[in-house]
Amino acid sequence: PPQLQPAKAPAKVLEGVKAVVAVASGKGGVGKSTTTISLALALRHLGLKVGVLDADIYGPSVPTLLGLTAKPQLAEDGRRLKPLEAWGIQALSVGNLVDPDTAMIWRGPMIQSAITQLIAEVDWGRLDVLLIDMPPGTGDAQLAVAQQSPLSGAVIVSTPQDLALIDARRGIAMFRRLEVPVLGVIENMSQFICPDCGGRHEIFGHGGAREEARRIGVPFLGEIPLTMALRKGADLGRPIVATEPESQVGQSLIAIAGEL
Ligand code: ADP
Repeated sequence: PPQLQPAKAPAKVLEGVKAVVAVASGKGGVGKSTTTISLALALRHLGLKVGVLDADIYGPSVPTLLGLTAKPQLAEDGRRLKPLEAWGIQALSVGNLVDPDTAMIWRGPMIQSAITQLIAEVDWGRLDVLLIDMPPGTGDAQLAVAQQSPLSGAVIVSTPQDLALIDARRGIAMFRRLEVPVLGVIENMSQFICPDCGGRHEIFGHGGAREEARRIGVPFLGEIPLTMALRKGADLGRPIVATEPESQVGQSLIAIAGEL
């Protein structure tokens, strides 16, 4: 199983969690949330107790990705919330707490307090690892999450395209400034494997993230291909790493999780 480092300072928040890892991207739409869920299920496959905190207040997609519709209940202490459970992992999303359309128009202080609530007022119990699906970009919301949670490290998701890479670089710079170790970069939508002809098509290019990781001196964790199965599973709330861990894409995700 992966050797995640424990959080640096034993903070009161997220006390029972051994490692808190942010999954971030420079911009939206690169597959950050899909990757977060896939990594969470892959880590579970490797025998860890895993939670996912969806802090992407601009587009909380974890409920859809995991097929979570229930409303969270209060924990035994009558004060904090209990996370929901799906596919053997714990999860709680800002989308489980508020209507996503409402969150879109929040101002700074509301974003801050929603983030504080998600991080400090949820009873995760004992977890080996909690993955935080970060809001995309490097603005106030990202800073709030990064500063309020005892992060052991951050994983950066990017497509091979230049534009996504440039934004990813900013994200890496932000974590370095906050002294959060960057565990590595994952290239998503790396190539398309055609289900009909079996051919590989490099729709957004290929290898850009690996090259960039080498250049800035952070580990490269692996590539996730663009596949219909991954997208369909995501839309249906039936994540492929849980339903078909033996598939090619399932195996590549389990291999990436093993690198953490
Ligand atoms: P983000 O969190 O970065 O905004 P999402 O994880 O929501 O991105 O992904 C955006 C869209 O791309 C979703 O429809 C998702 O199903 C799809 N997607 C992400 N990664 C892949 C992939 N490797 N193959 C196919 N579809 C993908």
